[in-house]
Amino acid sequence: MLAFEDFRGQSAHIGQLKHDFSAHTFVHAYLISGPRGTGKKSVARLCTMAALCRGEGEKPCGQCGPCRRVLSDTHPDVHTIVQEKGKQTIGVGVLRDALAEVGVKSFEGTTKALIFPEAERMTPAAQNCLLKTLEEPPQDTVFFLITDQPGALLPTIVSRCRVIRFHPLSAEEAERRLIALGETPQAARRKARMAEGCVGQALEIDEERLQLLEELTGDVFSVHCPGDVLPVVNKYKDDKERQRQVMDLLECAVRDVLVAQAGGQTLEGSGYAPQAERYAKAAPLSGGLALSAQITKARMMMASNVAFASAFESVLMTISEEYAKWPW
Ligand SMILES: [Zn+2]
Repeated sequence: MLAFEDFRGQSAHIGQLKHDFSAHTFVHAYLISGPRGTGKKSVARLCTMAALCRGEGEKPCGQCGPCRRVLSDTHPDVHTIVQEKGKQTIGVGVLRDALAEVGVKSFEGTTKALIFPEAERMTPAAQNCLLKTLEEPPQDTVFFLITDQPGALLPTIVSRCRVIRFHPLSAEEAERRLIALGETPQAARRKARMAEGCVGQALEIDEERLQLLEELTGDVFSVHCPGDVLPVVNKYKDDKERQRQVMDLLECAVRDVLVAQAGGQTLEGSGYAPQAERYAKAAPLSGGLALSAQITKARMMMASNVAFASAFESVLMTISEEYAKWPW
């Protein structure tokens, strides 16, 4: 079972949360914000378990009935509020139903928890409805509003919550966590970088994506002259599934090239092709910066419906132009 200690690197408030929920001195509403995959939901669950735990000693014990019911999502006093099937937003109807639960006595006679794993999905009407409840908070009920888009919540809601910010880990910390979770050192190093320190996201990266990263960086950083551009474009332009990943992966690769060029961690052992490692070593910083700027432009092109092939071509042309500027 995960413990509060596993998330210490991600928020300065972990120790306080553990104390407050174990001692039943928590406030009635928490806004937990931060990038996807940083452990926000896991920590909300740990807080809930600590509040409901009936075990002896350190809470949550993970063994008692209430702890086990929270872990298996079957605790009758813990409610997870999501949008209705087929809908994108959480409407006022869903929220009223959820809040009706708050008025009912808790099943196990202790705390009730309402968890919103994607609080930003609440419509303004739903948020206003929630606001009324937060203004007169019910006894023994705790709200967890979890989001990676805190700007989508009404300022009046935010001001009623204790705000807990979660951060990605450094690449090294994320690597250590992934190894502790059973990844091989090599996979951990690659995934930690690709997910920019968000461990939850790193765990979702599969072998196929790692292979694509190596193949793509091999192809892209082999474009030494304009004549090399088209074969690479043609290789990727017809596979819609791969196209979706190409710009993300390139962005990640160029970010790491820049870090290496600036004297930070090198690319060795990070899952990039040797051609990318050579580029990072040989090209001047201006080469990495030009590439980064062109990827941003290519993304804007794609957002305004320019075909993937043209956007990708513009990135490859930039690489060939950079190669032309210095001996390689
Ligand atoms: Zn317990």
